[in-house]
Amino acid sequence: MSDTILRYVPADPCWQPSPEAATKAVSLLETIVPGADEVKSTFEDEVRFYDPGENWSGVECSACGADAEEWWGEAMETASAHEFKDLNTVAPCCGATVSLNDLRYVWPAAFGRFALEAHNPGIGDTTEEQDRKIDVPPIN
Ligand SMILES: [Zn+2]
Repeated sequence: MSDTILRYVPADPCWQPSPEAATKAVSLLETIVPGADEVKSTFEDEVRFYDPGENWSGVECSACGADAEEWWGEAMETASAHEFKDLNTVAPCCGATVSLNDLRYVWPAAFGRFALEAHNPGIGDTTEEQDRKIDVPPIN
């Protein structure tokens, strides 16, 4: 049986909360998913990509909606070489400049330097009201 992770990553990839705010967010999430194995927050020095692992379901261009999987890997490598400091790339499908963080990940994924995670939360999706309390958008 694979673990389920409920994960929140701030919309701004570079943003990090204060340690106090992170502790508060962990406590808040614990009240939402009291049955979770573990609730924790993680800080990263560099921006990283929180991928959906085995739930990866593809990615689409945010400008035209075309399947982006073909060029996404290479764009990721280029951005990764620069520590994800610049997430903008030119989409070959339509020529639009798009941010890798804005692409339509079929299963949610995001870039960030902070994540709030609940392992095996024991619930499905959180409600919008719960998400508002946490104040960072969820990716599962
Ligand atoms: Zn496109």
